[in-house]
Amino acid sequence: MERGKENIGFIGLGIMGKPMVRNLITAGYVPRVYNRSRAAVIELEAEGATAANSSKEVAEQSNIVITMLPDSPDVEAVVLGKNGVLEGAKKGLLLIDMSTISPVMTRKIAAEIEKAGVQMLDAPVSGGDKGAIAGTLSIMAGGDVNDFNRALPVFEAMGKTIRHCGPVGSGQIVKACNQVVVALVIEAVSEAMVLGSKAGVDPDVILEVLSGGLAQNRVLDLRGPTMINHDFTPGFKARLHRKDMSIILETAREFGVALPVSALVDQMFTHLVASGNGDLDHSALLLVIEGLSNHSINEA
Ligand code: NAD
Repeated sequence: MERGKENIGFIGLGIMGKPMVRNLITAGYVPRVYNRSRAAVIELEAEGATAANSSKEVAEQSNIVITMLPDSPDVEAVVLGKNGVLEGAKKGLLLIDMSTISPVMTRKIAAEIEKAGVQMLDAPVSGGDKGAIAGTLSIMAGGDVNDFNRALPVFEAMGKTIRHCGPVGSGQIVKACNQVVVALVIEAVSEAMVLGSKAGVDPDVILEVLSGGLAQNRVLDLRGPTMINHDFTPGFKARLHRKDMSIILETAREFGVALPVSALVDQMFTHLVASGNGDLDHSALLLVIEGLSNHSINEA
């Protein structure tokens, strides 16, 4: 480890976590890593990380612990549960949860660990697997500003647009806003593609024309071609976006905010997951829109 660098622990080595660890290694850190399934731990150990056998062990050996796990119950179990981060934590440890979870759970965990002198930042990300690999993630952080400044060099190893958003939980709130837009844009792109295609226009033409005008957006750029080919390799799994829709709607209910179209798109994600497609990329929402009109743009 380079002099002056913090001891980093990293728990959750999936689609996002694995490339984020690789970027920490590139930046000179020697992350201590743990994941529920072992293969990713062994893979990263061969690339310069140190393997750990539990979340507790990660915390015992680290000054900063990063979590990148699927959902609120996973973060709760890994931090507060048996053999978890809190059991191994010393005073002064900084927990950075980069998963997308409920802001309510974030605040609950932060309050619990603070009793042991452990600080927490919520720092969810956007930019997808491509951003994680390239080290260009957008990172939106909530928590104490001194903790944010302490974490900044670590964030800079993984991301490009890095913003302190407010007190703990604020990062998750901004992420929820982000996921509203992404979900509704995927849905809008799907509707446009099915409309144009069933009415007789080549989907490639629709994509090209829309990409040149006011309708241009990142979903069209990054997922338009794969949606046309029905290539739904994740990416961001549909079941995780359904989880994010629940976070969005719970947060909206808590604050008395009406989100009529998000509620509708939540039902579409529920249908997608219930029909066995939860592990496809979230752009597979197209299949729901295709199903409603009995038309596949892939076979047009
Ligand atoms: P993933 O399912 O690929 O990875 C999650 C990892 O956590 C898996 O390797 C799993 O084995 C591990 N894990 C689960 N429970 C565990 C436990 N109790 N102890 C140790 N390890 C455990 O998910 P992902 O796509 O990497 O997403 C992680 C988080 O990042 C999610 O909250 C997601 O919403 C968010 N996110 C994902 C993307 C994306 O494009 N994939 C983009 C932005 C944000």
